[in-house]
Amino acid sequence: MRKILVTGGAGYIGSHTIVELITAGYTPIIVDNLCNTSHKNIDGIESIIDAKVKWRNADCTNKYAMDKVFSEEGKIDGIIHFAAHKSVEESVKNPQKYYDNNIGSLKVVLKCMQENEVKNIIFSSSCTVYGMPDVLPVDENAPFKKAESPYGETKQICEEMLKSDNCNSVALRYFNPIGSHPTTLIGDCSADRPSNLVPIIAECAIGKREYITIFGDDYNTPDGTCIRDYIHVVDLAKSHVKAMEFLIKNRGKHAFNVGTGIGVSVLEAVKAFEKINNLKINYSIGPRRSGDIEEIYANVNLVNIKLDWEPKEILEKAMKSAWDWEKKK
Ligand code: UDP
Repeated sequence: MRKILVTGGAGYIGSHTIVELITAGYTPIIVDNLCNTSHKNIDGIESIIDAKVKWRNADCTNKYAMDKVFSEEGKIDGIIHFAAHKSVEESVKNPQKYYDNNIGSLKVVLKCMQENEVKNIIFSSSCTVYGMPDVLPVDENAPFKKAESPYGETKQICEEMLKSDNCNSVALRYFNPIGSHPTTLIGDCSADRPSNLVPIIAECAIGKREYITIFGDDYNTPDGTCIRDYIHVVDLAKSHVKAMEFLIKNRGKHAFNVGTGIGVSVLEAVKAFEKINNLKINYSIGPRRSGDIEEIYANVNLVNIKLDWEPKEILEKAMKSAWDWEKKK
């Protein structure tokens, strides 16, 4: 059984990935200090798999704590490194927090890997590394444009760090992960006030907000609102299992887009949520949000061919699970 350390394994994408790793026969070990998630996700994982999962309470920026994890866990076949701060808005207000944590944690993980002869790492990257691409759908060869936020900048820097290290790496460039596990036993437990579209729509549905402000309807898109590529978090989780299988066999340095390849406007996303959940969302049109790019969606040919991965879930199903999670959490 292959042993995989999963930093941030109690978080939103991490917890879903733990479930998929176990289902695929891996033995994951969660490394998480729960700084922006909840033990509820670990309990939820255990309920879904009907077994215990190993959790190490450690801060990935703390070399001493990570040394202890690596030395006590013995042979590790690979790392999946999720642990990072993820709020674009917060990163603009407090960039240093993002540089310290997101870059600092990868630095420690890479050093521990070297010292313990662990070769394989999957890294949580983001389509923000592309900025506003010149060609759509964007493929993995598109250049990194100037990052729109310190958060995006940390993802760019981390990808560069992987390239200059002697590890085998896969950077998975996530598009817009949404939804939750169909059991509603795991999900996004972060304490941050949501700033992403779908959690905000769900908050409107439940009455925590009166309405959602749509940030601009004067973009050069069919309905004037921005276009993104929304990917069900369960599909995204499965891509990590495929990436680990691929890396163990192929080695080297790789980057893959993980999206659906389908562009969806903000208004279309609101309508899809309304339709599948049979409810009404109040919205108003506001000014553009600074730093927003007009349109981005993935070219998924490479991930399809190399990882033999493709998304299985449709947008409506993701919107239903987002609402189910909001009601349950
Ligand atoms: N958005 C919006 N109102 C909100 C939150 C988001 O209109 O309250 C829009 C945002 O401008 C963007 C899209 O929804 O066009 C997705 O935003 P999100 O923050 O979820 O993801 P990102 O911009 O990082 O891709």
